[in-house]
Amino acid sequence: MLLKYVELLYDPEIGELYFCRAKSAIWERVIASLFQRGFEEILGPATKRVFYTQSKEMIKEFGVCFYISKLEKLGEPEAEEILKKLSTFGYGEFRLISFINREIKIEVRNSFNSSDYPKSERPICYILSGILSGAFEVCTGRKVECEEISCMTMGKSSCEFLIKIGAKKRSMGERKIEKKKTEIERDLKTIKLRQKRSVLYFKSTPSVIFGKDFSPMINRAFEKLIGPAVKGIVYNSNKSTVLRIMEKYKGVKKFLVVHFGRLLKKQIIKWVTEELEGRGYGKFVEVSTEEDKLHVKVKNCHNCIGYKRARKPVCYNFSGIFAGIATAIFFKNFECEEIKCIATGDEYCEFLAEPHI
Ligand SMILES: [Zn+2]
Ligand SMILES: [Zn+2]
Repeated sequence: MLLKYVELLYDPEIGELYFCRAKSAIWERVIASLFQRGFEEILGPATKRVFYTQSKEMIKEFGVCFYISKLEKLGEPEAEEILKKLSTFGYGEFRLISFINREIKIEVRNSFNSSDYPKSERPICYILSGILSGAFEVCTGRKVECEEISCMTMGKSSCEFLIKIGAKKRSMGERKIEKKKTEIERDLKTIKLRQKRSVLYFKSTPSVIFGKDFSPMINRAFEKLIGPAVKGIVYNSNKSTVLRIMEKYKGVKKFLVVHFGRLLKKQIIKWVTEELEGRGYGKFVEVSTEEDKLHVKVKNCHNCIGYKRARKPVCYNFSGIFAGIATAIFFKNFECEEIKCIATGDEYCEFLAEPHI
């Protein structure tokens, strides 16, 4: 069995994770698809465009990784190289089918985007399509679009993508890439993720690597389309995802069932926040479960990246997650409010979850 490791750098002081020198977060492997489904149920076809364009931008943050050389001429070996790099993110098992006249056909087995997705009549790997187009765009300096031709969710054994390489872009982010190269100065801890075939494991959980700001990028793009309704969608899908993960992963479920009675709530919370911190979501500076309440403070929160003086707190993701965790550990419905937020100018984000019947 092919077994290897993917290395990331970690700064425990601020809870910052780097992959290919870009700030990163390690997501549980199916969460992005769950969000996609959540939005799609409410918004329909507009979902595809948002996930495609935001994923395309997100993967460009890892430009160093794909910027193989000044590729005036992209050939099969270079395309293979890009696919090899993409596989280190845990997205799936990539194979080049053909490369003819600036059109590249790619097969992806075990796409993170379609695993755990219900049957569909049309391709649904919007995130992976965006990622493929972005990786080839940042590498070639040309305009690149990608279309999924057939998908695992349509009953196929793999997904197939068609990449079209277009005209040269006026300015490519060479300077941006150079800047990223010098970003990290401190000595950092090396984090190793196990990779078995195409799947990447954070501890024992299948996971994928995204840019740290991927979730606020998606939230903002949807906010532009539908405004404040995004808050409810993101909050609810995070809350139900937390509860669903606890259901889905037998190991976690067993852990919770076996230890619920014995472990103090505080210890369970500590375990969960350490997990989130290790995944690059932020630095948890204070966590307490006094008086039937869950109270959390987070510095360097991933949800706040890219907001310029928001008028209201923006970390619906975390609010939903903490509501879900509190609901699970207190055995009754909890809702969570963000009372301070970095995006509105505070030093940290602060969450308070309370019983809500
Ligand atoms: Zn697919
Ligand atoms: Zn916040």
